[in-house]
Amino acid sequence: RTVKAADLVERLTRWRDDFPTPGVRFADLTPVFADSEGFRAVVDCLAACAPDADLVAGIDARGFLLGAGVAATLGTGVLAVRKAGKLPPPVLRREYHLEYGTAALEIPADGVALRGRRVLLLDDVLATGGTLAAAAELFRQAGAEIVSAAVVLELEFLNGRAVQGDYPLASIVRI
Ligand code: AMP
Repeated sequence: RTVKAADLVERLTRWRDDFPTPGVRFADLTPVFADSEGFRAVVDCLAACAPDADLVAGIDARGFLLGAGVAATLGTGVLAVRKAGKLPPPVLRREYHLEYGTAALEIPADGVALRGRRVLLLDDVLATGGTLAAAAELFRQAGAEIVSAAVVLELEFLNGRAVQGDYPLASIVRI
């Protein structure tokens, strides 16, 4: 299963140099998600990282697609970790550093019982790791446990793994 997912990710990913800014090599997973076999294989592989999760969270925006698919597979609900300003208050908010300036992620501060929940946290690509770490911190603040984080593609040379908390981090393909 993992082999098939990795093979499809490697075959179908669109790589583009100097997007969105010079010096960045962008991995666009659109064709992987648009492929029936590719999406199924990736979702099954990510779901296998935390079969005992009771909530799946996906990070804005491509993580939403993965989160929905994996939640439906595991039979859990799905929670969208949003970019700042999209959710009505009250929210938990976490700022983090990007190459230029800062960004922030938010989750609802009420309405979803998060204390003691077992969360599988998903995103498409792990680059410098700040996004995933900030999202994980939101759930920690809310009293939830990240049972695993998982991404489709890990850009190992950017060392994003080094800035993560003590949760397991799985990736289908490492480059
Ligand atoms: P980072 O916080 O640096 O790990 O960035 C991760 C977020 O930015 C993820 O949500 C990715 O979708 C996106 N991202 C960063 N770098 C790339 C890249 N080279 N190719 C594709 N997506 C990227």
